[in-house]
Amino acid sequence: MVEKELVSDSELIELAKKAREKAYVPYSHFAVGAALLTREGKVYLGANIENASYGLTTCAERTAIFKAVSEGERDFVAMAVVADSEEVSAPCGACRQVLAEFGEDIRVIMVNLEGKRLEMSSGELLPQAFTAKNMAGAGQDDRETTSKRGEVQKNG
Ligand SMILES: [Zn+2]
Repeated sequence: MVEKELVSDSELIELAKKAREKAYVPYSHFAVGAALLTREGKVYLGANIENASYGLTTCAERTAIFKAVSEGERDFVAMAVVADSEEVSAPCGACRQVLAEFGEDIRVIMVNLEGKRLEMSSGELLPQAFTAKNMAGAGQDDRETTSKRGEVQKNG
């Protein structure tokens, strides 16, 4: 039996649409919203934030993830990403990598404003992601590593 999540997909999508309204996009005018759901049912919102120095722009997905992690969250089950594009907008490579840090089975629900929808897991979006497991066995025996769920583990 599939565990029922505390926030429905449609609610998460609506929250991502609300987050999108806060996007700061004076240059591209391409607003993106994200809503990240924790296992306990909390939702963290993110929007893309541009900068006159273009390279400093941050995506909606990472904004939501960083907000959540900085509040102590590390266990995520789903993320909705909303953009006004003909096709759905998938997370960029940087956001896929940041998402993969917290697990391979986070559901990513990508939708456009017309309701077109695509769902993939974080592992499907970034196969063979570089994570803490890639560093296992490296370095000193007493080093600390962070598992995919973010728990600090003592090795050796
Ligand atoms: Zn991104």
